[in-house]
Amino acid sequence: MGDIIDGKAFAARLRGEVADGVAAFRAAAGRAPGLAVVLVGEDPASAVYVRSKHKACVAAGMESFEHRLPADTPEAELLALIEQLNADPAVDGILVQLPLPKHIDEMKVIETIDPDKDVDGFTIGSAGRLATGQEGFVACTPLGCLMLLKDRLGDLSGKSAVIIGRSNIVGKPMALLLLRESCTVTIAHSRTQDLPAVVRGADIVVAAVGRPEMVRGDWLKPGATVIDVGINRVPAGDDKTKLVGDVDFAEAMDVASAVTPVPGGVGPMTIACLLHNTLEAAKRREKIG
Ligand code: NDP
Repeated sequence: MGDIIDGKAFAARLRGEVADGVAAFRAAAGRAPGLAVVLVGEDPASAVYVRSKHKACVAAGMESFEHRLPADTPEAELLALIEQLNADPAVDGILVQLPLPKHIDEMKVIETIDPDKDVDGFTIGSAGRLATGQEGFVACTPLGCLMLLKDRLGDLSGKSAVIIGRSNIVGKPMALLLLRESCTVTIAHSRTQDLPAVVRGADIVVAAVGRPEMVRGDWLKPGATVIDVGINRVPAGDDKTKLVGDVDFAEAMDVASAVTPVPGGVGPMTIACLLHNTLEAAKRREKIG
């Protein structure tokens, strides 16, 4: 039986460390680090995420600036708001909650964010800095996965890692982070042939697919460490639903040495890493630490 990697407990510790860092920053800079969150439209899931980010910011002692715009906001108006936030000295980090309404060019909006305030790590500048080994902001979900892996395994050098999924926000930055740690990295996707055989070679498996319980126990190398990024809502009988990951958790626990649960694994790390990145952005801007 493998161990459960408790992302919730790790994230609580990280949030505590960030809160200590915020207190020290306040003492040195005479102000709190500030995160601006922009939400366009009324997507219920996005509204829940924005609320959680606001609460986490306030709990860590940060300033949270929420900007809620109607779904029919013209693109030019959103771009103007981002420019205004770029210029605002009280704002250290800017996050635009995705997805945006169809009439708005998502990439154009993200590219308008000042790279020094890009705490989500989604701009081409941040992706390029990661790819070329320079200091920059790393997307929060893969950063959280890396922290959990290093906490569990220590030195990752020489380990073979398979990442299932190649999105810009999870799969690709995860691969680059593990390459930076000197893992031997394979990126699998929907066209990968014989995925179970590919996964079976891995010491580290990161599943970021969006398909409920796709990764089965018999796909895993005994003793592997499994990070499940997937969040899938599935029927749970009696008109109820529940959340499951991309990995069959019970089967994986029988074969792997450690597995992240869903919920309570990667999910809580994402917001904790957003706070971590915002504090970093504030410190870099004020040249503190
Ligand atoms: P995307 O839909 O952008 O990417 C999914 C990836 O999975 C694609 O690269 C796709 O391949 C690949 N894929 C799809 N089907 C298969 C298959 N049958 N076999 C192998 N690969 C497949 O998703 P995201 O990266 O944005 O998110 C992935 C999951 O992580 C989702 O469940 C999402 O909800 C969750 N998530 C969780 C977060 C958290 O905080 N815990 C944060 C962000 C995401 P191809 O490129 O070929 O189409």
